[in-house]
Amino acid sequence: MHECPHCKQDSITSLQKLCSVAFMPASCPHCHGYSYLQMVHGLKALITWIILSWVFIGIALHQRMTMYLIGTIPAMMFAVDKCMLKAPMRAIILRK
Ligand SMILES: [Zn+2]
Repeated sequence: MHECPHCKQDSITSLQKLCSVAFMPASCPHCHGYSYLQMVHGLKALITWIILSWVFIGIALHQRMTMYLIGTIPAMMFAVDKCMLKAPMRAIILRK
């Protein structure tokens, strides 16, 4: 669970957080406030994953073993966790 930027409660699920964008925000079940994850965190995760994948491709080519390419899967989970799940969400403040 992840912190809601409105009520500071751990109420937003990981899936909600990863799927939330500015035009389709996640809503908090506690305070019904809307929030989303900025696109830049997704880009950071993608770049981290690409760099790590090339490291594994390099090792696989050097060792002549394609088995090392499996390492790109945990690398993607690492990138998503470090860059997207750990990042704070941005609150959407609705004016009346
Ligand atoms: Zn909330």
